[in-house]
Amino acid sequence: MLLIIIKKIKDLKNLFCKLFQHEIVVKTDVTKIVKEYECIHCKKQFTTSDKGKLIPLTTKRKETNKVLKSLYQRRKKIKKLIPNGRLKRSSL
Ligand SMILES: [Zn+2]
Repeated sequence: MLLIIIKKIKDLKNLFCKLFQHEIVVKTDVTKIVKEYECIHCKKQFTTSDKGKLIPLTTKRKETNKVLKSLYQRRKKIKKLIPNGRLKRSSL
């Protein structure tokens, strides 16, 4: 009985998304531009495509984002180490 109610609520939530739109919130920052989103109603996940559009988050996309994030973090770290983008010979 409880399961049926839970399923009904879930259906209602999906209906809400169908009637209106997904109410998405940022879940993870991948890069400055690429982010991972989640709908607060149906828990469907989205991400930013290379064209800047919102697309469903697939397993493949998730993997790509993971790589992208680690690359981005590494670049950010390097930028922090070298503030003006140039290596100083004396500091090496
Ligand atoms: Zn939704």
